[in-house]
Amino acid sequence: MSRYFGTSGIREVVNEKLTPELALKVGKALGTYLGGGRVVVGMDTRTSGEMLKSALISGLLSTGVEVIDIGLSPTPLTGFAIKLYGADAGVTITASHNPPQYNGIKVWQRNGMAYTNEMENELERILERGSFKKAAWNEIGKLSYADPKEEYIKKALEVVNLDDSYTVVLDAGNGAGSILSPYLQRRLGNKVISLNSNPSGFFVRELEPNAKSLEGLAKTVKAMNADIGIAHDGDADRIGVVDDEGRFVEYEVMLSLISGYMLRRFGKGKIITTVDAGFALDDYVRGEVVRVKVGDVAVAEGIMRENAIFGGEPSGTWIMPQWNLTPDGIFAGALVLEMIDKLGPLSELAKDVPRYVTLRAKIPCPNGKKAKAMELIEKEALRSFDYERLIDIDGVRIENDEWWILFRPSGTEPIMRITLEAHTKEKAEGLMKKAKEVVERAIREA
Ligand code: MG
Repeated sequence: MSRYFGTSGIREVVNEKLTPELALKVGKALGTYLGGGRVVVGMDTRTSGEMLKSALISGLLSTGVEVIDIGLSPTPLTGFAIKLYGADAGVTITASHNPPQYNGIKVWQRNGMAYTNEMENELERILERGSFKKAAWNEIGKLSYADPKEEYIKKALEVVNLDDSYTVVLDAGNGAGSILSPYLQRRLGNKVISLNSNPSGFFVRELEPNAKSLEGLAKTVKAMNADIGIAHDGDADRIGVVDDEGRFVEYEVMLSLISGYMLRRFGKGKIITTVDAGFALDDYVRGEVVRVKVGDVAVAEGIMRENAIFGGEPSGTWIMPQWNLTPDGIFAGALVLEMIDKLGPLSELAKDVPRYVTLRAKIPCPNGKKAKAMELIEKEALRSFDYERLIDIDGVRIENDEWWILFRPSGTEPIMRITLEAHTKEKAEGLMKKAKEVVERAIREA
């Protein structure tokens, strides 16, 4: 297992594991890996952003790489800027939805997609070895500053069109989305009420958009008689939505609706989702749905491999390849507005999406036991469940037409996750009881 890079780049407590010294080394390692060229660097609103960004930029410059510092920037804007400025890579200083004492470093490819595990491992090898490229005095990288926001908005307005104007309440959670998402909505012709859009690095709600963290947004949508509420996590690569009646729309439902809309928009095409996504999507869109590993890299790779028209995870992380391969909660917000503009109020649309019962459980499991436990689970699950299909691209998912169960070790914590879905509560609870027994026994025996 790698020492620094986890499932979503580096993400650690600031000045504990994630120090300016480490950021400097990551900058040097990335510059060494690239061997030259140009890198765009942006950061979210966290109080440690400037400190880490400066150190990382110093490292890059020391290897002779040219840096464009775009300052405060949601992750999708950084992804957009990579292409806009013809850069060879991008870096976001962000810890996404983690608490404020965290920060992180995530690296992006030239095509807007995040670095793969293999690429991160290579960076890590360079970092460990410590043999960095050193530019001569007359070849030190140049630093410039840029602001791609206006280009982003203009480009988005070329893609998304509204016939009418709507009242949008926008809750950016005081994260990086604050500086772009409300402005894009306004330029689309909407009336925007901003909530928690102060990019201070001090967060007033849990950054993960969910029914609980978006209670304030839901109330505001109702009180203002708005058409929709849109929320983001700390770096705005994700979207959470509240409907016109002030209800949080479950992620699975939004994923189904937007996938259906994309199919309508493009006539036909494949949809990519992850192994932890439920049946609602398949049943609602009735198109070809391809499941891949969890994570935005796997979704982006799946989109390219299958030439798909859309990819999304049931965490509000959506990738729209016509736009970019970076997950983009802000562009997603514009697209959701286009959907209600063409198809009608969200509360009405949501009624057409089938709803099943999803249950999740976490079972403690030491990291060292995970591989062996998964082996035992795969054997045991095979014997004790009456399933028809098995997908083992990421953990093990067994399913038939009535239910599915996913057994998957966490990539970041010493736990084993069980996610399952069934048509009724009784069935779901019965399956969970059995699944837990299988996992607990496997961990004991591992
Ligand atoms: Mg995020």
